[in-house]
Amino acid sequence: MTPLMVSVSGIRGIVGESLTPGVVSGYADAFGTFCKGGTVVVGRDTRRSGPMMEHAVFAGLMAAGCRIINIGINPTPTVQLAVEKLGASGGIAITASHNPEEWNALKFINKEGRFLGKDDIDRISNDAEKDTFENAEISRLGEVETIEDIHADHIRALLELETVKVDKIRKHGFKTVVDCVNGAGSIVLPELLHELGCEVLKVNCDPDKPFGRGAEPLPENLDELCKSVRKNNADIGFACDPDADRLAIVDENGKAIGEDYTLVLAADYILGMKNGAIATNASTTMLIDYIARKYNRDVFRSKVGEIHVVEKMIENSCVIGGEGNGGVIYPALHYGRDALTGIALVLMQLSSSGKSVSGFVDENPKYYMTKKKADITGTDLGSVFERVKKTAGRGTLDRTDGLKLIYSDRWIHLRASNTEPVIRIITEAPTRDESEKLADKYINLLKTE
Ligand code: MG
Repeated sequence: MTPLMVSVSGIRGIVGESLTPGVVSGYADAFGTFCKGGTVVVGRDTRRSGPMMEHAVFAGLMAAGCRIINIGINPTPTVQLAVEKLGASGGIAITASHNPEEWNALKFINKEGRFLGKDDIDRISNDAEKDTFENAEISRLGEVETIEDIHADHIRALLELETVKVDKIRKHGFKTVVDCVNGAGSIVLPELLHELGCEVLKVNCDPDKPFGRGAEPLPENLDELCKSVRKNNADIGFACDPDADRLAIVDENGKAIGEDYTLVLAADYILGMKNGAIATNASTTMLIDYIARKYNRDVFRSKVGEIHVVEKMIENSCVIGGEGNGGVIYPALHYGRDALTGIALVLMQLSSSGKSVSGFVDENPKYYMTKKKADITGTDLGSVFERVKKTAGRGTLDRTDGLKLIYSDRWIHLRASNTEPVIRIITEAPTRDESEKLADKYINLLKTE
């Protein structure tokens, strides 16, 4: 049985195995207690276990005396923004994000609309497991209210930003194809694109259907989108994951350019407009350093995980941040990875520069990333890292998250996953061959006990 995974990404498990109604309502009760029985916003993605999970979450929150605002199927960033705008005490996004359909999860959000830090997660987890949360008296049991169409507020807030010049994007008249994996972005992403004056063609945008492709917006899952971009002569294709916090891009030739480019495109626009630094995680492309150098801006690196990047951004007053997995965080709107924000900033970049997507990619240095994973059940990570350190040579050792060896034009990053019992091996180098060879070298090193 796959165990319940507890991390800064929330609690995550396979429904019916580690994720049962009892576990879910216990965690919701503990979270409701953490929110002192205040108002909690609840939203979810489209997976089949969503309604069951939702009812279990409601039961736990009601027992804690919380007033619940149910916003139904919505992206995780919309839940985060709703918490902030409605002045709620917290929020729960019911989504296992990029995990397959049989998984689900609770992502806990604090009153500022940000994910909880490790200490708060530990406290809730401890309360949930030991059953030490308090339950409200019968007269104080919570109630559920429903708000429909809150996604329209998200679009409005985004389009009111000074840096999002709606007229400029509208004037350009982009032809777009959008693939929302039939997830939580299926309604709101096409609506946003319409608002931006785009022609919108849809792939996998039916929230009543199961996921129409692999859940992650990785190039290998985007064949249908790529074909549609080519067939319809579109300018750009957008793909998100089931809870629409991650965004990937397909160029005008129907080529998936890789998730890392989303933040690179958005950062190139914002760093050119605003004076300030960028923060990203240790596994994100070196292209971020290249773009930052172009505008003479600092880059701060954090551990992998949205809240770690957000903390780094706040600490250094960054004007933009995010993760290489397609998660763009633009603090002028809110501190959350947000596919809607990603779309607006990418279209601003293209309409301001007059470049096509492939034009942008071609004028920047080429780096190829390889991402592999290895099962670490029963492995001593400490001894693995010792062996890796011995291979460093002239490289810089970085311990921000796991172990990273950094050279002038390449790097290797090894870290334990937050969401699966594996070690991730990520490499980047100027050619695909070099990048893959580097990854294979370290996979083999892991195997030699
Ligand atoms: Mg996600």
